[in-house]
Amino acid sequence: MKKKFISIFTNNTNISLDTKASLIKILKDRGYTVTNEFSEDAELIICIGGDGAFLRTVHSCKFPKCPIIGINTGHLGFFQEVRPADLDRFITDYENGRYTIQELNTVKATVTTNDGQIHNHIGLNEVIIQGRPSYTVHLYISIDDMPIEKFSGDGIVIATPAGSTAYNYSLGGSIVDPRLKLLQVTPIAPMNTTAYRSFTSSLLLPAELSLGVVPEKHYENRIAIIHDGIETIYTGVAEIKVTLSETSVNLLRLKDYDFWSKVKNKFL
Ligand code: NAP
Repeated sequence: MKKKFISIFTNNTNISLDTKASLIKILKDRGYTVTNEFSEDAELIICIGGDGAFLRTVHSCKFPKCPIIGINTGHLGFFQEVRPADLDRFITDYENGRYTIQELNTVKATVTTNDGQIHNHIGLNEVIIQGRPSYTVHLYISIDDMPIEKFSGDGIVIATPAGSTAYNYSLGGSIVDPRLKLLQVTPIAPMNTTAYRSFTSSLLLPAELSLGVVPEKHYENRIAIIHDGIETIYTGVAEIKVTLSETSVNLLRLKDYDFWSKVKNKFL
């Protein structure tokens, strides 16, 4: 028998709460059970808000396996697919299978501290590595264990294709079609002088390569790792390894979704 169980997440703006009330009514009229919490039994997760709310939902559901779709009540809404005015049509399309699933890759940073402890961070948009706020940081960067540069500047962003339109883009990084499996390493205010030599453009890494980051000794006691806006401060950092993660997110897209149309509509 078909499951009819949907989890709804929302931010707390008035428009999101009004949209949620309308959506619950439509879903209940069509025989769905609706919950405000993540459940393994859910066939679909609906997130009402902007991209920030979408990221928070993905993290609070611990990167769910079931499809997830966003209703845009935020500003940009790059992950978000449905307009609040189109709720009825969206549910009809969903019930008739008029959708596709867009699989989005994530990025994983593994931090090893001097006491041997290991901590993992997974980002759907990106992982950022920085030092103290307002100070430079010096980082030895390697690609698959081959030393490539000593970075000097504010930090680096390692973005997924899905995150390429977020902070990465504001830093001058490239927009990447999410069908490509790669990581983009984008510098934040790189220093490139006779004293310091850092790449000033983004580096694109294929899925099978990893990025290694070792802070210069003086900087190892204050390293910030920020994944999708969530900051963790570490002391005594020995090494950070960044790879494309095996965890993915299944975004439900309506039949007429096209990545490059969305880019054009949102940015130009
Ligand atoms: P926020 O600072 O409140 O919002 C960040 C902005 O980024 C919002 O306008 C959001 O869109 C947009 N955004 C998020 N993911 C996106 C994506 N994949 N493509 C295009 N735009 C996207 O922070 P937040 O809501 O907690 O979100 C965390 C994200 O903020 C981080 O992952 C990082 O990428 C981004 N960020 C951007 C900058 C920058 O551009 N200078 C600086 C720091 C962090 P909505 O309006 O739809 O929510």
